[in-house]
Amino acid sequence: MAEESIFTKIINGDIPSDILYEDEDCICIKDIAPQAPVHVLLIPRKPIPRLADATAEDQALLGRLMLRSGDIARQLGIDEAFRLVVNNGAGAGQTVFHLHLHLLAGKEFTEAGL
Ligand code: C5P
Repeated sequence: MAEESIFTKIINGDIPSDILYEDEDCICIKDIAPQAPVHVLLIPRKPIPRLADATAEDQALLGRLMLRSGDIARQLGIDEAFRLVVNNGAGAGQTVFHLHLHLLAGKEFTEAGL
């Protein structure tokens, strides 16, 4: 069996984290190394390693994550201007191989990168 990701350890409560929101599908935590004044991660409980590993079985879950990101943006008061990022693969900067959405806000974004 694949080794548990750090996010699975956070989800299971084995590693402490600043959890802002959780439901049956996902948790939302503050990123420990924020790249913007607001930087949170939306992490599905299901440990899909990369977006490219998601299958048709994950369709509804992925949809709910997108909707949840909008809800969380509203809760955080950033729904007028935020960026949603998914890094897929080491070459794209992915360091934790457990799918997650970065929600970033509070600075001016002028390019496609973080
Ligand atoms: O997309 P990527 O895999 O690089 O993103 C992983 C993110 O998880 C990083 O922004 C990192 O700061 C964050 N992280 C965290 N808490 C941990 C380990 C990583 O917030 N314990």
